[in-house]
Parts: sequence; C-alpha cells; structure tokens
Amino acid sequence: MDYSAEQGWHEPMIVPYGPITLDPSAMVFHYGQEVFEGMKAYKTADGHVCLFRPDANMHRLNQSSERISIPEVDEELLLEGIIALVREDQDWIPDGAESSLYIRPFIIATEPGLGVRAARQYKLMVIMSPSGSYYPEGIHPVSIFVENQYVRAVRGGTGTAKTAGNYASGIKAQEIAQKQGYSQVLWLDGVEKKYIEEVGSMNVFFKISGEIVTPELSGSILAGITRDSVIRLLQSWGHQVTERKISVEELFEASRAGTLEEAFGTGTAAVISPIGKMKWDTEEITISGGHTGEISKKLYDTITGIQKGVLEDPFGWRKVIL
Ligand code: PMP
Repeated sequence: MDYSAEQGWHEPMIVPYGPITLDPSAMVFHYGQEVFEGMKAYKTADGHVCLFRPDANMHRLNQSSERISIPEVDEELLLEGIIALVREDQDWIPDGAESSLYIRPFIIATEPGLGVRAARQYKLMVIMSPSGSYYPEGIHPVSIFVENQYVRAVRGGTGTAKTAGNYASGIKAQEIAQKQGYSQVLWLDGVEKKYIEEVGSMNVFFKISGEIVTPELSGSILAGITRDSVIRLLQSWGHQVTERKISVEELFEASRAGTLEEAFGTGTAAVISPIGKMKWDTEEITISGGHTGEISKKLYDTITGIQKGVLEDPFGWRKVIL
C-alpha cells in the first residue's frame, strides 16, 4: 500500500513476493525513516489459525510512526490486509507444535530527496516467513552480556519506537557480546549507564526475594506486547509485579546475597527466554543454577498454550482468523 500527500494511503494490494524498485535517493536510505512490527500466526491444535493480540501490534506501529513523523494508517484496514494475506498463504504456516508464520509489516519513506525532513511518499509492505520452533530442544536459558560502553536509546530519543535505527545502533555491541559467547546484550540507561532497560529484542523481568520486578516504561524502552501479557498473567496468578527502576548493581548484589531467584526475557520471537548467566564488567553470575526457572516455564507453557489454542484464553488475546 502506498502513501502520497495528495492521496493518503491508497491501493492496498496483494502481489507475489519479489524485489521492488526504489529511487537511490529514496529518503529511507539516507535518513532511516522506517518503522516495523513483528507478529506471528499460529496453527491451533484444532486446525484453526490465529494471531496473538494483533490489535496491539497495529496500534504500536502507529505509535512508532508518530515518533518518526510517518503518517498513521487505519489500524483495522491494515489488520484486515494482514489477515487476507495469511489466508492467501495459509499453506506456508508450518504444522509443528511450536512453529508459526512470522509476519513483518513495515513502512519506508520512498520519496526521492536529500533534504532532511519528513517524506511525502511512503510504502507499507507486509512480508511473511515460516518460522520453526525457537527452542527445538525445549526451552533453555540464554546468557546475557551487560553493555557498558554503548547505549541503545536515551530518554526523548527513539527507544520507544520500533524503528530501524535503534537496531542498527545495537549491532556492534551484539557482535562484541557474541564473540565472547553471550547471545544477547542487556542495555543500560543512556544517561547514567546504571539502570537496566531491555535486551536487544526482549523486555526483562527478575524475581528478587520473591518479588517480580521489571524496568518501568522509562521513555526509552519498547513497550513489549509479551511484557504486558506477562504482567497481566502474573497478576492473575496472585503475584505482585513492580515496574520500577532496577540498577544493575542491585541485581548483582541480589545475586551475591542469594536473593536473585529468576530472570527472563519476553518477546514475540521466543515468548519467554530464561536467563541463566549474566556478565557485567568482570563479574559473571549464574541465575536459577543456570536452569529454566519455575515462573519462566509456567509463563512459557501458558502463553504458548493460549497461542496454540490448547489453553483457555481468559483475556481474549487469541484472534481466530481461519
Ligand atoms: N524490546 C525490543 C527492542 C524489541 O525489538 C522487542 C521485540 N518486538 C521487544 C522488546 C519485545 O516486544 P514484543 O513482546 O512486543 O515482541
């Protein structure tokens, strides 16, 4: 679907996957005016196909666009288009119990021009790809590297938006962490480099002395849809969840004192990623004995169970589309 200042969003259509032609001076190439979303379609146990909280993805896309001065889209129309596309390509949805079809809607500034300003032409595309189980051998913990040198986002910046530049700025730190054997980077706040923000593509939760805590939405982290689902599920199970500032020092101190009981990341790709090891400066800690914690496992089983239609859906998160 294209946008022009004169016509607004127009001509939504489904076309075969293939290369597109863009002017070399299309503004997205030079100033990164782009936003995207990531969501999944699941085959349920009884043969239906469903999406998980897709309205939230549509809404977040518009919120990201707002931050980058991209014109908003009609959320219902976009979701309708995505559903039509999934229906058209339903043979691509893998059957495996934990497989899914990954859906990537994104918008780029296509207007040719080298002046720095909001473009007047955009293209919205939706691409999809079958995705196997994130944990083919069962859910297992990841190791995380606390990033001290680089920051991902600062308050007032673009950290709350799902826009390309945030990910580009994280690639170098990710590379360094991976070379040292850690799978993901844990970002600290951009001012004091003291408070925990989020992992590369996940929000984070910790259980300290029985209390479940997660960094507050500080204005520089992404408001994860899995994060919100996890908070609501935990509360429905009677846990208290506190959204607050958590310093990395507090976390390592809790680990030394033996009160850091569990840590996990939340995101669309892995749903729940237990954190087994964390390195900060010269110190490395092991969490939950390097195993998957009880809460991580219960959350993973519950959310994937809701997505796959084998568990009740008390919050109405599952949207059956086929
Ligand atoms: N933070 C960042 C930076 C992300 O890219 C993602 C993945 N979208 C998340 C958190 C988790 O968000 P969600 O649960 O909506 O996938």
